[in-house]
Amino acid sequence: MNIHLILSGNELLNGVQLDTNLRFIGGELAAAGIPVRQAVTIGDSRPAMIDALAALSADADALIVTGGLGSTDDDITRQVAAEFFGMPLHRNDDLARYVAYCYRTHHPDGPIPKAIFRQAEVPEGARILPNRNGSAAGLCLDAAIGDRHFPVFLLPGPPRELEPLFRECVLPELLRLRRDPGLFRCGMLTLGIGEIELQQRLADFPLPPETGIAYCAVPGGTRLFLTAPDRDAAVRQLTAFRATLPAPQPEPGETELAPALIRKLKAAGLTCGLAESCTGGMAAAEIVAIPGSSAVFRGGIICYHNDIKTSLLGVPPAVLENHGAVSAACAEAMARGAARQLGVDLAGAITGIAGPDGGTGTKPVGTVFCAVACGGNVTIEEQHFSGDRAAIRTRSAAHLLKMLFQLCP
Ligand code: AMP
Ligand code: MG
Repeated sequence: MNIHLILSGNELLNGVQLDTNLRFIGGELAAAGIPVRQAVTIGDSRPAMIDALAALSADADALIVTGGLGSTDDDITRQVAAEFFGMPLHRNDDLARYVAYCYRTHHPDGPIPKAIFRQAEVPEGARILPNRNGSAAGLCLDAAIGDRHFPVFLLPGPPRELEPLFRECVLPELLRLRRDPGLFRCGMLTLGIGEIELQQRLADFPLPPETGIAYCAVPGGTRLFLTAPDRDAAVRQLTAFRATLPAPQPEPGETELAPALIRKLKAAGLTCGLAESCTGGMAAAEIVAIPGSSAVFRGGIICYHNDIKTSLLGVPPAVLENHGAVSAACAEAMARGAARQLGVDLAGAITGIAGPDGGTGTKPVGTVFCAVACGGNVTIEEQHFSGDRAAIRTRSAAHLLKMLFQLCP
């Protein structure tokens, strides 16, 4: 099934706005087994919109266009789509009343500008998809190229308007249209195995020929995605492949470290806590972003200055003097201190040099020590990460989460 997307808006092309609508729609459709075939991003330009409509209409089973349904002059989607598919625009009185009502909630006084009623214009024969979070309704056009008919969905750009509208009005209709069996995807984060090694392992693993394989390297591991004509098959194949990997590994469906760690801690009935220096709470933020993390995560200490490492975590001044703050000894003392102070079963600690300054001959920028204290034992790992400050901090946080996952009993 060919589902194509046109994402419109100058802000998407000039670096002002990250395209989260593509991520959202792409994710929803992939999860539903009807992945997006093509997505084209264009500015607020009539010729670009016409080119995109012409190119994608050629073989579309459904077309989704986002953005450009507002009331300013750069909002051209409605007009251009209506013109392209040969549908005259007519004002819909109910929609006009709704648009005026929306305007009045923000502007109780004064005249209502004529321009807003552009949002009440509906291409002939189109269905209105009500937008409860904004004044720009979505529209569903019954497009025809020759005698081939396919729906064209015009959706408002703001994600909080688009997302409920997509789930309620668009997705059910696309699922009804589906003729082929679909393509279901199951992903899993694999730890400690690079992309190439993973590919070699899969080459030796019997998979049905219709299985699709995709890799995505991320800090801490490689995400593996298998696609199959039915969801259970993709999960089954991933489960069987997982059993051939060195344990411990996240489970099929788990593509992020933090949820996998929380699931494991809950299953083991254990709590965890953190002491973070160079990451300044990044690892804690990853954990806290997951709903339900409060059941296992007790807290984190951001111990940036040496004084804080000593006063809050009890890192002995002699360790700092003899080994430095970026050292295995300091990471170990931080992890032990966090376990004690936070009263947790599993405590992780990070200390490192994120740069760009502060590197030395023996401890260059990117030198990071991670430690995990568990049941009186401490495991320490020295890492040398490359990249800028942000990359080193991201990789450090991911490495600690990975250690916590692997060392969680
Ligand atoms: P529009 O419907 O063109 O008036 O879009 C209004 C606003 O929606 C824009 O200013 C953006 O902030 C947001 N927006 C539009 N398209 C996208 C997109 N693809 N991803 C994320 N936000 C978007
Ligand atoms: Mg726009």
